[in-house]
Amino acid sequence: MIKTELCPLCTARNSSLLYDGHISLYRCKNCNAVFNASHRPLDYGETYFNEEYRNQYGKSYIEDFTAIYSLAKKRLSRIASLTRHTSGLLDIGAAYGFFLKAALDEGFRDIFGIEISEEGAKYCKHTFGIQVQETNFETYDFSRKFNIITAWYFIEHIYDPRKAFSKIFDALTDEGVFAFSVPSFFGPQFLLHRDEWFQNHPIDHRVNFSPRLIRRFLRTIGFSKIITHPGGIHPQRFFSPAIAQYSFVRSLYARVSTLLSFSDTLEVYAQK
Ligand SMILES: [Zn+2]
Repeated sequence: MIKTELCPLCTARNSSLLYDGHISLYRCKNCNAVFNASHRPLDYGETYFNEEYRNQYGKSYIEDFTAIYSLAKKRLSRIASLTRHTSGLLDIGAAYGFFLKAALDEGFRDIFGIEISEEGAKYCKHTFGIQVQETNFETYDFSRKFNIITAWYFIEHIYDPRKAFSKIFDALTDEGVFAFSVPSFFGPQFLLHRDEWFQNHPIDHRVNFSPRLIRRFLRTIGFSKIITHPGGIHPQRFFSPAIAQYSFVRSLYARVSTLLSFSDTLEVYAQK
């Protein structure tokens, strides 16, 4: 019997098995999503932000403040180009609140976070004086609407991303903006080093997108304007910096990557 699994985005049961190892990855033949059928959430406690983060990035989450904070500023300027609102902002999966701190410093007001880890929520409250509720998004009951909702590398952790997108859409005011980042399979890692991509795929990631897939999917949810950006530009994954004309190749790659949102991760700005 051919194995197939229900797609968490379009709900079609028409998928083909891509990888069967520490997890089972499928590609949906209907919408093209690449998803993990053996998704399992992790314990997002202190270890997640310290040891596990350090293993991946060489420093703890807190030690990485400067880089995360400057990236937050860039994301806030992208949000500001879409909406005149500078209040009523919710960050889902706020971690230690670095994005919210950047928002506060940029003049955003009435800002709020939700975060599953107790350490993260406490840190944000005590260090930055920003309100973060320690809660699970899936059971969280929105009591109000927001002009801006953000979720950086959060959606891929959710078992039912379709439901999560709808819940966020409903919590936005008219013309509200949802800005988020997700892993993408339309990037150099999946294209060139697929075996490695499969083997390193986190157990707690449910779904992977492409720019085309996310645009199409967000329109079905009801979003009207959708802009995608590459989450990172890494020409060295294709070309050695030692080659002649590397600076020319690098700038050409950056232009193509920006034009197509070709990257291992994706930033998305969607307006209701
Ligand atoms: Zn699908």
